[in-house]
Amino acid sequence: MGGRGATRGSVPDWKTVHPEALALLRGYLRIDSSNPPGQEAPAARYLGALLEAEGITPRYIETAPGREILYARLPGDGSKRALMLANHTDVVPVEPAYWTVPAFEGLEVGGRIYGRGAVDMKGIAIMQLIAFLLVKRLNLPLRRDLVFCAVPDEEALGKQGMAWLCDHHPELLEDVEYELNEGGSGTSEFQGTERPVFFVATSEKQVCWLRLTAIGIPGHGSIPHPIEHNSAVRLARALQRLAEWERPITFTPETEAWVDRLSAEGLMPPRDQPEEIARLVGGSAPLQAMFTNTLNVTMIASGIKANVIPARSSAVVDCRLLPGQSREDWRQQVIARVDDPAVEVTFHEELDADEPVSAPWDTELYRVIEAVISEAVEGAVVAPSMTVGGTDNRFLRARGIPAYGFAPCILSQQERAGFHANDEFLTVENLNMGCELTYEIVRRMCA
Ligand SMILES: [Zn+2]
Repeated sequence: MGGRGATRGSVPDWKTVHPEALALLRGYLRIDSSNPPGQEAPAARYLGALLEAEGITPRYIETAPGREILYARLPGDGSKRALMLANHTDVVPVEPAYWTVPAFEGLEVGGRIYGRGAVDMKGIAIMQLIAFLLVKRLNLPLRRDLVFCAVPDEEALGKQGMAWLCDHHPELLEDVEYELNEGGSGTSEFQGTERPVFFVATSEKQVCWLRLTAIGIPGHGSIPHPIEHNSAVRLARALQRLAEWERPITFTPETEAWVDRLSAEGLMPPRDQPEEIARLVGGSAPLQAMFTNTLNVTMIASGIKANVIPARSSAVVDCRLLPGQSREDWRQQVIARVDDPAVEVTFHEELDADEPVSAPWDTELYRVIEAVISEAVEGAVVAPSMTVGGTDNRFLRARGIPAYGFAPCILSQQERAGFHANDEFLTVENLNMGCELTYEIVRRMCA
C-alpha cells in the first residue's frame, strides 16, 4: 500500500487518511463551481484526477459545454446489485461582501474548513471519495459494484446533471440497487435534547411555483381611483390573505414513521397527542416545513410609471408541497383562499410531471446505516425523514431506486446555517467522522 492515505493491514490508517481528506477538501473548495454560470467541468476533473492517480479509469460525460458528469465504478463479484455514491459538483453563488473569510480559498481556521460548498456538498463528496479510494486501496473483495458519481447542475433543477444522466444514460443506473446522496445528517440540537439524532432522508417535498396576476382598470395617479380597480391593491390583498393562512399539519407515511421513532425515545409527543405535536410544529419553522405545504412570496412586479395606476400586477409565490400532494389541488386551494376573481393563479413554470416518490426505508441500506451509527455514536437515534428542499435523489427515486440523503456526521446549528448562506463551513471533526462512517457503511454494504 503506497504513499498517500496509507493503510495498515485491512483497515484504513485514519491517522494518515484524516489529513489527506482535509487537504483534498481544501483543494476542492478552491475550485469556483458556482451555478450560475455552472461551468463545473474543472470540479469533475479535480475529483477524476484523484481517481486516475490510483489506477481507476473514470468516465467524463459532457452534458453541455463546460459541464461534465464524473462516473467511476469498482467492480464486485456480481452477487448483488450496485451501490452508488452520488454528489453534485456545483455550488450556489456567493455574495463576497457578506463573507468574513474568502469563499473559494479552502481556509482552515480553528478546526473549521470554510468555503462555498463545505456543507453543500463538497464536504460530503470528499467523504464519499475517500470511502471509494479506500475500498480500492485495501483491495476489498466486493459483492456488488461500487459507483462514484459527481454531477453538475443540482442547484438549478438538475436538467444538465442527474436528470440528464437518467435520460441519456439509463444503462449506467440500470443495476444500481441503492444510492446515497445529500439531504440528511445528524444533529446534536434536536428540540433541546443533547442526544444525537440522525435523519436519513427517504423523501422530499416538491417545488410548486405559482404566479398571481391581478388585473384592474388603469387611471391617472392624480385622481382618486376606486381601490377595487387598482391591480396593485388587489394583489397585495391576495398576498396578505396567503401570508396569514393557517393550515393544519398533515402526516405522510414518512412523518408518521419519524414521529413514531422519536416519540419512542421520548423526543416527540406520540401521534395520539396531535394537539401537542401541532403546538411543537407551530413553534418551529423547520417542523412547519416538514408537516405543512409552505409558501413564501418571492417576486413582485407592478406599475410602469409613477403617475399611472397599474392595470396589471403580478407576484410569484414559492410553494413547497408535501409528498403525495397534487400541484393542481394545491392551486385550487390557493384560488379558494385568495377568493378574488380579479386575481388569476397559474403555474409560474412548467415543472416535471413526475411527482416525487418516497423511497422505502425497510431496506438493507437503511439497516446498515442504523447499525453503523448506533455502534459509533453512543445514544444515537436514527429516524427516516424528509428533505424540505429539493435534491437529485428525486430523479433516482422516480426510477425506483431507494435513494437516501445522508451524511454520517453531526452538523451544528451554525454549520446548518451555512447552506446557501455566508461563511459556510464544515468542521474537521465532522469531515473525519463522515469519512470513517461513510467508509464503514460502504464496507458493510459491499464487502
Ligand atoms: Zn446540495
